Amino acid sequence: MTSIAANLQAVRARIAAACAAAGRPADAVQLLAVSKTWPAAGVREAAAAGQRAFGENYVQEAVDKAAELTGLQLDWHFIGPLQSNKTRPVAEGFAWVHSVDRLKVAERLAAQRPHGMPPLQACIQVNVSGEASKSGCAPDQAAALAHAVAALPGLRLRGLMAIPEPSDDSRLQRSRFALLRQLRDRLNAEGLGLDTLSMGMSEDLEAAIMEGATIVRVGTAIFGKRD
Ligand SMILES: *Cc1c(COP(=O)(O)O)cnc(C)c1O
Repeated sequence: MTSIAANLQAVRARIAAACAAAGRPADAVQLLAVSKTWPAAGVREAAAAGQRAFGENYVQEAVDKAAELTGLQLDWHFIGPLQSNKTRPVAEGFAWVHSVDRLKVAERLAAQRPHGMPPLQACIQVNVSGEASKSGCAPDQAAALAHAVAALPGLRLRGLMAIPEPSDDSRLQRSRFALLRQLRDRLNAEGLGLDTLSMGMSEDLEAAIMEGATIVRVGTAIFGKRD
């Protein structure tokens, strides 16, 4: 077994254990393999081990990598900061975008999504750590943004995404993830049928799963440490 295949197996075991500890079914959490900075060969190895969904942060890198792997039927998720002048390749080449944090970006993605494709699955990124993190909309702006995004054609709003500040304190980690869950619950009470919480990475996926994550985005624990 390659090391990527072994790492994937270990991450899947962590997810299963966390689901069991949280009293959630084992298939409640989807694994997104974050392949940013790694060459297509690594993605190919992970795909051979059964992984289908991959996350990328940089538009051009992702487009080039996907072009090398066209035969593989992978689902590409864009998870990085998105400038409004870089939306077109995301609208045309990705299945998901997790990092919508303002309406202008969502409007461009919606307008640029090709008509023959299924809607682009979208999450609103929320800054749950206040000053400690710069990306994502403020929690008190999330509801207005979510309602506006949900009304756009070409996009399907699935839920919320967050990247809390790194912390060794599992209570602090859980409180950040809980904030995102409570926000999702509030939006659903307002009529948005959101089924996705994209939260948890290599270091904190257990805390995220305890708080209801449905997608964990894992890079280092699968592919190794990035430069
Ligand atoms: C890089 C990245 C990840 C993966 O982080 P790891 O700590 O390597 O697991 C997840 N989400 C986003 C948005 C990232 O940029």
